[in-house]
Amino acid sequence: MSTLQITDLHVSVETEEGAKEILKGVTLTINSGETHAIMGPNGSGKSTLAYSIAGHPRYTVTSGTITLDGEDVLAMSVDERARAGLFLAMQYPVEVPGVTVSNFLRTAKTAVSGEAPKLRHWVKDMRGAMDNLRMDSSFAERNVNEGFSGGEKKRHEILQMELLEPKFAVLDETDSGLDVDALRVVSEGVNRAKEATGSGVLLITHYTRILRYITPDHVHVFVDGRIAEQGGPELADDLEANGYDRFVTAGA
Ligand code: ADP
Ligand code: MG
Ligand code: MG
Repeated sequence: MSTLQITDLHVSVETEEGAKEILKGVTLTINSGETHAIMGPNGSGKSTLAYSIAGHPRYTVTSGTITLDGEDVLAMSVDERARAGLFLAMQYPVEVPGVTVSNFLRTAKTAVSGEAPKLRHWVKDMRGAMDNLRMDSSFAERNVNEGFSGGEKKRHEILQMELLEPKFAVLDETDSGLDVDALRVVSEGVNRAKEATGSGVLLITHYTRILRYITPDHVHVFVDGRIAEQGGPELADDLEANGYDRFVTAGA
C-alpha cells in the first residue's frame, strides 16, 4: 500500500504584478486503489495542484509538503517523480518531432521501471492496451502529439497510464473535449489501469459526467485555492444538480 500525502500546500505563480498565491493550504491524503475527484469552478487552482505535484517550474511551493510513502516529492526532479511512481497525464503535452508513440512509450517505460521491457511482451502489452482503447494499430507509428485530435491526446494519456503502471495518477480534465463514446472508452481505460495496478487516482474535473463512469471514493470541492467541502460520490450528484453557486457566493 502506498500513500500520497499533501499537507498544507501553498503555491504561488509569478505574474506581472509579482508573486500571486494560488493554493492557500491544501491538505489531502490518497491511498493506493482510491479515486479522489477534485472538482471546482474554473480558476479555483485545480490545475495548479496538478502542476505542483508534477514539479512544473512555474509553480513555486512556498510552504507545505508532498510526500510519497514518506519520501519528499518536492525535493525530486520531474524524472525522479516519475520513477517514484507518479504519473501526470499532462507531463508530455508537447509535440515530440520524429519520435513515434511506440518508441516514446517504450522509452518512458524503461525510464520508469529501470529496465527495458522485453520486446515481445512489450509489443503484446502495447497492442492489447491500444485495442482496449479502440486505437488503430497505426497509431503506434505516428509521431507523439503531432496532429493528434483532442480525443487521440486523451487516449494516448490513458495508454501511457495503462503501460507505465504508476502508483498514483493525476488526470487533469481527462474528460474535456471527449464525446460520450470516447469518454466511456477512456474511462474504462482508467478503471482497467486502476484494477490492474492498484493505482491511486486524482481525477481533476470541472464537470460531473466522467464520474458516472469512474466512481470516486472521495470528492473534494476546490474554491479559491482551498478545499471548501469534502464528501463521497453523493457530493458530485449534488454539484451536478446545483452547480458551484453556493460555494462561489460563500467565498466571494
Ligand atoms: P483551474 O484549473 O481550477 O481552472 P488554475 O489552477 O488553472 O485553475 O488557475 C488558478 C488561478 O491561478 C487562476 O486565477 C489563474 O489565472 C491563475 N494562474 C494559474 N497559472 C498561472 C500562471 N502561470 N500565471 C498567472 N496566473 C496563473
Ligand atoms: Mg482552468
Ligand atoms: Mg484546470
